[in-house]
Amino acid sequence: PPSLELQGVCVHYGNQAAIEHASLTVGGGELMALVGPSGCGKSSLLGSINRMTDSIPGCRVSGRVLLGDEVISARRDPATLRRQIGMVFQQPNPFPLSIIDNLRFPLSEHGVPRRDRDALAEQALRAVGLWEEVKGRLNQSALGLSGGQQQRLCIARALVLEPQVLLLDEPCSALDPVSSKVVEELIVSLKGRYTLLMVTHNLAQARRIADSVTVCWVEAGCGCVVESNGCRQV
Ligand code: ADP
Ligand code: ADP
Repeated sequence: PPSLELQGVCVHYGNQAAIEHASLTVGGGELMALVGPSGCGKSSLLGSINRMTDSIPGCRVSGRVLLGDEVISARRDPATLRRQIGMVFQQPNPFPLSIIDNLRFPLSEHGVPRRDRDALAEQALRAVGLWEEVKGRLNQSALGLSGGQQQRLCIARALVLEPQVLLLDEPCSALDPVSSKVVEELIVSLKGRYTLLMVTHNLAQARRIADSVTVCWVEAGCGCVVESNGCRQV
């Protein structure tokens, strides 16, 4: 997979800076942990990568984002980014649909032919270790799954589009300790196949599984500054 690079990215909400001059590089197939206090701009930074920020009124992003050699921040049609850059949130948020339709839906949205969808769905469920658990109840509601299973389904829903990058915003922090461990091990298993950028409040987790750690902090009156420190220990 390609590397992901941010060069001097700034995110403003109206006149207020949320992120100033964020520069970092996640090596292709590596996992970077992004840590820092609440409100320092970590979610805004993730949003500037897949351009979720475009839909927020008054939000402006500047600077450059590169995927491999391509300056994706210059792309006119950010919708095309959703396929290359998957996203997983803190709170598991499966669609209120059946388990299988959670995977068919994004495939349908992206124009994948109907006849190919179920094979891709199975492949994604296998990749997150959920296939054996749910293969007998694919047509039951995803909302009947446990929290940890729902989060793995959300990861599968991102992976089913075969993205190159996966953005994870505190993917384990809403889960019980056992599920959290399962999802953590799943994330580790994705290294090498995807380029991963994960926000976490859990420094022990960052140290355990990340190839590099970036620290984000707040400076008085000046939004937030990000320093990327390669493999420095936290
Ligand atoms: P973190 O993820 O590190 O907690 P956020 O990116 O959520 O930080 O927020 C960074 C700053 O941007 C905060 O001051 C927050 O209040 C502000 N902010 C976030 N989202 C919005 C929004 N939609 N409109 C206005 N301000 C926002
Ligand atoms: P749904 O059954 O979920 O409504 P469709 O089968 O109608 O989905 O297709 C969803 C999208 O995929 C549409 O944009 C459609 O044009 C496109 N699509 C469907 N089949 C093909 C195909 N064989 N080749 C290319 N695009 C297709």
